[in-house]
Amino acid sequence: MRLWSHADFPFPLPAGHRYPLGKYRLLRDGIVNDGTVRAADVQTPEAISWDALGTVHEAAFLERMRDGTLDRRESRVLGLPWSPELVERARRGTQGTLHAARDALDGQRVGLMLGGGTHHAGRASARGYCLFNDLAVTTALLRTEGRVQRVLVVDCDVHQGDGTAELLGPDPDAYTLSVQCERNYPFTRIPSDLDVELPAGTGDERYLSALADGLQVAARAFGAPDLVLYLAGADPWEGDGLGRLALSFDGLRARDALVLDHALQGLDAPVVVTLAGGYPPDVRDGVRINRQTVREAIARARTDLTLPPPRATS
Ligand SMILES: [Zn+2]
Repeated sequence: MRLWSHADFPFPLPAGHRYPLGKYRLLRDGIVNDGTVRAADVQTPEAISWDALGTVHEAAFLERMRDGTLDRRESRVLGLPWSPELVERARRGTQGTLHAARDALDGQRVGLMLGGGTHHAGRASARGYCLFNDLAVTTALLRTEGRVQRVLVVDCDVHQGDGTAELLGPDPDAYTLSVQCERNYPFTRIPSDLDVELPAGTGDERYLSALADGLQVAARAFGAPDLVLYLAGADPWEGDGLGRLALSFDGLRARDALVLDHALQGLDAPVVVTLAGGYPPDVRDGVRINRQTVREAIARARTDLTLPPPRATS
């Protein structure tokens, strides 16, 4: 099993900031130390090129991001203090999702990026801790490579995937399904192909049934894609600081199983898993949810093959 992590590339963050920067290293070290994966299986993505980001994002926006010249409004909606390290990490994160998607397509069936799912980033805007939209960039580059054409996004982060909807919603060869809490960020939605809006306090049973229905609606409308991009957000958890749903640990595990089985068996499509958001007061709860996702992913991946060496992206 090959998976990807940018945990060794942190960035300066003020004390007490809600972004769970420390989680990614705890997660990576946790799954290595308990033998879930070998240290050598976890690879570090290089920083994706600006040209590659330019397949999706506006040139002037990328220039401001590269040079650190975002205006005050842009900095505020991003929610993270700009630094060269922040940009480096986001470029590596985007490349990690692309590598993981290639792993899925190269026979592993399930690819895994321990990060990514930066679904609020739009064509010319960084929003909600998301600099670049790894889902749209991965789709664009895999299309250029002739690897995929039709993609299905299953966004189970508790927040609506407005950036992905902006970038892939109008695309006839992409279908965006987003399942979220109805009264939560982003308060101005950009409609997905299918938005499943759940009331605050929704628990396991109603969530899983609404998700299953959403997957069926998507399958009827779009058929089988060449690739599924799954955002396994940890923030629908009942203790999350920014989510308003009420899923249990077991409910989140069942959610992962439902999406992965639907992709691999129901649609016979490879799937790339990204982690998206998660803001529990105790970072260890976020690690626990992400570790469940990793285990569900590995249990369904083909691990008996030798993958080609990672390809550079021009
Ligand atoms: Zn979120």
